[in-house]
Amino acid sequence: MIFELEYNIIQPVSLPKKKGIELYIKREDLIHPFISGNKYRKLKYNLVEAEKKGFKTLLTFGGAYSNHIAAVASVGQNFGFKTIGIIRGEELMNTYGKNPTLNFAKNCGMQFKFVSRTDFRNKNSEDFISDLKREFDSFYLIPEGGTNTLAVKGCEEILTKQDEIFDFLCCSVGTGGTISGIINCSKPSQQVLGFPALKGEFLQEDISKFATKTNWKLITDYHFGGYAKINEPLISFINKFKIDYKIPLDPVYTGKMLFGIFDLIEKNYFPKGSKILAIHTGGLQGIKGMNAVLKKKNLSIIE
Ligand SMILES: *Cc1c(COP(=O)(O)O)cnc(C)c1O
Repeated sequence: MIFELEYNIIQPVSLPKKKGIELYIKREDLIHPFISGNKYRKLKYNLVEAEKKGFKTLLTFGGAYSNHIAAVASVGQNFGFKTIGIIRGEELMNTYGKNPTLNFAKNCGMQFKFVSRTDFRNKNSEDFISDLKREFDSFYLIPEGGTNTLAVKGCEEILTKQDEIFDFLCCSVGTGGTISGIINCSKPSQQVLGFPALKGEFLQEDISKFATKTNWKLITDYHFGGYAKINEPLISFINKFKIDYKIPLDPVYTGKMLFGIFDLIEKNYFPKGSKILAIHTGGLQGIKGMNAVLKKKNLSIIE
């Protein structure tokens, strides 16, 4: 079986000339509508491994709007694995049909098990896993968010030879698997900047576990209060970005990163003449679900 969905498109974003900065976006979001961006990269070698070991079922974990859940469900449908999603929140058991991400995953054939927040927190414990093995028999386990050694290996393929011309490589950070892969395949002279989408003191340490170089830094000023928290300035930035550059951004990750990059350019963080490459890690499937939440709160929606 071949899991390659190769894609390599870099798009320039024109900035005011006086800043002397060049910004390009690597469109990993275009790899596939659902197995998109870094989620494809993170799954690739895990799928190779699962197949090699003869597993027919993939089991993983996620929240109600998880890009990772959508990607695993779609992988199952496209590449012939049965998929099981352990979902945070028992209350979703009766309402998941109204949740666009879970509804999509269900239509791809994913089987759900809804668990309480406490159980979800303990999902990596031996007891919890052996209960799952009793309930579902044999499966290939992919951790929440998909980060493991094989995921980092896949993310090491995001950069190619042509990307060596860039001075700064920017990427959004959730669990840190993606940035680790980017660090590992960067040149020591390049600076890797990570934009965490959540408040997370643990990230520095988590990334250090996988990263083989020290040419990286986390920019922690653009998480907007936490994971999946957004506000009006961020929404209007995302909407304007799409109009100006014809590139859709997701509200949880890439929108925050690009908001940060634009703000840093404005504040002259980057030396004149810098060439920046920002990785579009995908996540566009999450827009629908976020818009439903925004509508309920009477906020503007993402166009
Ligand atoms: C999951 C995700 C990330 C975070 O990736 P990590 O490897 O967990 O740091 C970034 N961007 C998008 C769009 C994602 O879906």
